[in-house]
Amino acid sequence: MRQYLLPEKGKFYKANLHMHTTVSDGANTPQEVKEAYQKEGYSIVAFSDHEVMVPHNELTDCNFLALTAFEKSIDCPSSEKSYSFRKTAHLNLFAKDRNAEICPVMNASEVWGNARKYINNKMKQADYRSEYSESGLNDIIHKANESGFLVCLNHPVWSLQNYQDYIGLKGLWGIECYNTGCVIEGYPDTAQPLDDLLRNGQNVFPVYSDDAHGEKDRFGGYVMIKAENLEYDTIMNALEKGDFYSTSAPEIHSLYIEDDILTVECSPVVSITVSTERRSNLHIVSEKESLLTHVEFNLGKYLSESRSAEDEMRRYFRVTVIDERGRSALSRAYFTDELK
Ligand SMILES: [Zn+2]
Ligand SMILES: [Zn+2]
Repeated sequence: MRQYLLPEKGKFYKANLHMHTTVSDGANTPQEVKEAYQKEGYSIVAFSDHEVMVPHNELTDCNFLALTAFEKSIDCPSSEKSYSFRKTAHLNLFAKDRNAEICPVMNASEVWGNARKYINNKMKQADYRSEYSESGLNDIIHKANESGFLVCLNHPVWSLQNYQDYIGLKGLWGIECYNTGCVIEGYPDTAQPLDDLLRNGQNVFPVYSDDAHGEKDRFGGYVMIKAENLEYDTIMNALEKGDFYSTSAPEIHSLYIEDDILTVECSPVVSITVSTERRSNLHIVSEKESLLTHVEFNLGKYLSESRSAEDEMRRYFRVTVIDERGRSALSRAYFTDELK
């Protein structure tokens, strides 16, 4: 039986999940952001200003959806190191409730700059004390999840985070593998932390986003969400389930598995890789003049490979396509114990 890894039905909606506006340190108003992104074919923007959550439901119409979100920063104490050496964790929190204004991990005293103007009386009471440590970050993720938020770890490379900083995190929904703002500043993120977390059994989804603060850091990385409609709940549900892929240009049109054959249909690309939890990648590169648009991978050998009893690593595979200009698209990982 054919099993669709990206849903068979529905439509792809282009989304930027990381954005700053004049509500915090961005150059453009939410309305200007909506207009600019719509012109480029986007249907969805998550307004993730720093430390305050301001819903922009007034921007939502039948062709555009504003997601309610905010970006929380957790810095190492300033007494320890000077700024350029200091580690930080930036988390994007996406609200399942479009009207959410507060979240139990907010702290009104941490709000800075323009964002201060947006603190209402309800928000003033928010006084969560965050701590940069594994348990401190896990507490934030746990509390956010419990109160209806999806949590993404943003730009770990820029944040100076290494393996020890993220490997123990539990309950993350996503991790940025591409952040346009960081790319143009010379801090390209990678998929290595993604595979590290996946190999640790955490099904975290790869996210490409802009983190745009103005015009120069727009329209680089985005996600293509496959859903039945553009309703808030439908889109958040699709994000939560992982019904999307991340990309900086190439398109993944279809992804399905049938009788151990994985089929990838995409816009013309030079290579397609199926990465797994072990040293067992499948990698196809196009012949000189014919780019790849439809490739079938026989996963039979991989899926039936025996393993030692002590090897408890969960099996997964994920797909990467790369176009002629080196731009990439990533599927999420599919754990074989979740497949039918
Ligand atoms: Zn950030
Ligand atoms: Zn940001």
